[in-house]
Amino acid sequence: MIINDAGLKFTLEPDKRSKTNMLILHHAAGNGSVEAVHKSHLSRNWYGIGYHYYVRKDGSIWRGRPEDSVGTHTYGKNMTSIAICFEGNFETDVMSDAQLQAGKELISDILGRYEGIKLSAHREHDSTACPGKDFPEELLNMKLTDECTAFIRRLTDEQAYDILTKANRHAATLPLPAWATEEYAAAVDSGITDGENPMQLVHRYQAAIMAHRSK
Ligand SMILES: [Zn+2]
Repeated sequence: MIINDAGLKFTLEPDKRSKTNMLILHHAAGNGSVEAVHKSHLSRNWYGIGYHYYVRKDGSIWRGRPEDSVGTHTYGKNMTSIAICFEGNFETDVMSDAQLQAGKELISDILGRYEGIKLSAHREHDSTACPGKDFPEELLNMKLTDECTAFIRRLTDEQAYDILTKANRHAATLPLPAWATEEYAAAVDSGITDGENPMQLVHRYQAAIMAHRSK
C-alpha cells in the first residue's frame, strides 16, 4: 500500500491525540484532489484538511493530518478518532473497484494497528448523510476478521514460521481424545503412522503418505 504525501502545510501543528478508539469514514460529497480539500478546510479557518487520509477515485491514498493528531471531522469524536475521507458523493456515485480496494487496504491496516478500535460511518455520530447511502457496506462492515487479516498480512515469513512451530509444539502437548485411542492404535498397528506425537499437525504430504499406506 502506497500512501502519497502532497506536502500539505498546516497553519498550526494539530494537537496529538491521547487515545484512539474509533476509525470514522466520510465522503467528500464531491470530487477533487487532497490539495483541494485542504484548501477548502483552510478557508473555514481550520488548521488545514480535517481528515487523516483521503482516498481518491483512482485508488490513490493521500496523507491528510498526521495520523496521531486530532482531526476536524466528527462533532464530539475528534479527540479519539482517525478519519478517512473518500473522494466522491456516495449519495449518487458508485464506488470504483480501485477506490474500494484502496479503502479496504487502508482500513485493515489501521484496524490492525490499534487494539480495540471500532469502525463507523460519520452518520452514526451526527445528523448527516455522510458518507452517503450508496457508500459500500463492504467497507463499513470491515471488523474483527479484517483486523486479524491485517495482523497476519504484516507478519514476516520468520514470524509466521515461529507461530507455526509454536502452534505445532503446543498441539503436541494436548492429550489424545479418549474416543480415538482404539482406532489410533489400530492405525499404528497397520503401519499408517509410527505412533509418535499423535497430536502434532499434519502437512498435506504426510496426509497423502498416510492415505497411501492405508491401501
Ligand atoms: Zn463526514
